[in-house]
Amino acid sequence: MAGSKDKIVQRVDQIADELRTLALEIHAHPELGFKEYTAVSLICGLLEKHGFSVQKGYGGLETSFRADAKGKTDGPTVAFLAEYDALNGCGHGCGHNLIAACSVGAFLGLAAVMNDLAGNICIIGTPAEEGGSGKVKLLQAGAFADVDFAMMMHPSSGGKNMVGRGGRAACGVEVEFFGKGAHSSVPQNGINALSAVIHVFHQIDLLRPTFEPQDNINGIITEGGTAANIIPPYAKCAFCVRADTMKRVEELLEIIRRCVANAEALIGAEAKIKMEDIAAERYSNRPMNQAFKDNMQLLGIEMRWPDPKELCGSSDIGNVSIKMPAIHDYLAITDDPSIQTHTAEFAACAASPQGIAACLNGAKGLAMTGFDILSNKQLQSEIKEYYRQQIPDFYQNEEADQEG
Ligand SMILES: [Zn+2]
Ligand SMILES: [Zn+2]
Repeated sequence: MAGSKDKIVQRVDQIADELRTLALEIHAHPELGFKEYTAVSLICGLLEKHGFSVQKGYGGLETSFRADAKGKTDGPTVAFLAEYDALNGCGHGCGHNLIAACSVGAFLGLAAVMNDLAGNICIIGTPAEEGGSGKVKLLQAGAFADVDFAMMMHPSSGGKNMVGRGGRAACGVEVEFFGKGAHSSVPQNGINALSAVIHVFHQIDLLRPTFEPQDNINGIITEGGTAANIIPPYAKCAFCVRADTMKRVEELLEIIRRCVANAEALIGAEAKIKMEDIAAERYSNRPMNQAFKDNMQLLGIEMRWPDPKELCGSSDIGNVSIKMPAIHDYLAITDDPSIQTHTAEFAACAASPQGIAACLNGAKGLAMTGFDILSNKQLQSEIKEYYRQQIPDFYQNEEADQEG
């Protein structure tokens, strides 16, 4: 066993220069969600160079891909997930270039010992995490149907090496109102679209005391008119809705729909609502996290469990974690706690020696964890049992309803 893990570590060390180059080249060519053409061609080029055939356009998404490495006999499938989209305005300010190189390294590292294992590993390219919910679209397309366990890491700051952090459910909503313009001296001749927007905000504020503590609706007005002496014929606002569960987000979306309908009725402006895919809350699998934590310890990296009261952001890995056991653990690419993700400073860390080191260590740790899973049936059933207990019944019933 120990010999296989040594082999994995050696393999990742052998290809460290290629992984570093991959991470830095993706960093130097930041691309927005669903347009990650350079990143995908760099990643696929590297996988092909190492002898793997790559399915491009996997799951019907142009910038998704998948490559597999089969073991000596049949068994479960472990997937390493690669993200590679950047942010508008601050490049790789979320460090997804490191996620991509890390998952490529984990896949190639574990592939080196697949001859000894029962099962299959794959790397799946999951575009548009920052907006577009690529993983939700891949799930809907059945692209994860044969995957039993999913894994990835995410860069963090402040020296936070963390396993098992959760994530809240979230959904973006955009509301447009179409009214009728008029001279501001005769407002009764127009239909004020901005008034309708403001009324939606007021109603949400009115209901806020009835919300659950983890509910969070934040809104901005993105268009509210063009001149103060014109009754705005058009106005637009956007909300980010967060809650403990996807089920609760659906309830909050229903509340917003009602507020919009009330504003339509009161003001007479016509509304159009656009809702994104809901990013589900995250169910981090404890036995998988523990295995990853233990492997990182073997590499000399101490991982900690998070403060349970910490408020979390959201990601489409949550939707994956409802469908199968999954982990999405955090490796620090800077010790500075004042550097936040989604900033130019964090983007700089994503190309730093510390960032590359976290990426390579993460690749080793994830590959070793994949090895633990495929080589240990007992661990496989512990992970599955934990997953079954962890996922709320309403999701399991939903599945049953769909199948029925
Ligand atoms: Zn991000
Ligand atoms: Zn991110």
